[in-house]
Amino acid sequence: MNEQQYNLRVAHLYGDLMNTYGDYGNIIALRYYAQQIGVDVTDQLVSLGDDFNPDNFDFALFGGGQDYEQSIVAPDLQRIGREVTRFIENDGPIIAVCGGYQLLGNYFIMADGTRVEGIGAMNIYTENQSTSRFIGNVTIKNSETGEEYHGFENHQGRTYLSDQERPLGQIVVGNGNNGEDGSEGVIYRNVFGTYFHGPILTRNGNLALRMLELALVRKYPTIDWHSKLANVTPEFF
Ligand code: GLN
Repeated sequence: MNEQQYNLRVAHLYGDLMNTYGDYGNIIALRYYAQQIGVDVTDQLVSLGDDFNPDNFDFALFGGGQDYEQSIVAPDLQRIGREVTRFIENDGPIIAVCGGYQLLGNYFIMADGTRVEGIGAMNIYTENQSTSRFIGNVTIKNSETGEEYHGFENHQGRTYLSDQERPLGQIVVGNGNNGEDGSEGVIYRNVFGTYFHGPILTRNGNLALRMLELALVRKYPTIDWHSKLANVTPEFF
């Protein structure tokens, strides 16, 4: 079988509105590693008014945006919310950053106190802090794998998880989800939510390879992707 027959189709959800600090770099990182094992990565913008058919995608990126962009995206996201939720419930891998992460939950409160509905694909919610923001470098450690991840956070929202989700990591340095409970980000099925810009998969090759493997195993379950990826060196910045 010709290796180029393998490919991953990435949906860039609202990428023209939600792309804080170049979150698109997550797709570039995924492609960088995938190419090394002969896997093609294509991406397609899914934005205002577009359909999202979960059967047409193998991975999704939902990047960050400020309150204003989120208030434009949120009502449109309701339109495709069932399909995005179906993708998630079928173990579709998603990297969701900051504003995108918040919108996959039940709701978030903007800095001015306005409540914006999410799609409730995860049982998380985001409260506001009206007079300050969490800004700075963050280091976390994932308690299951022992992997460390590095990123940069800039958000006012304070996100809380339910007992149906687990954090992406425990805070070593920084604020993370809410500055209180020592958690940062979320893992729910194959959704990885985070406040990390950087972009996270560019700065953390270990996580990029982990997500790439999840996507490939899901799409091509008979191939030993773990062995193929063992030969790929993760990069860290
Ligand atoms: N508007 C959100 C907040 O400040 C998200 C910010 C972002 O995506 N960087 O909490």
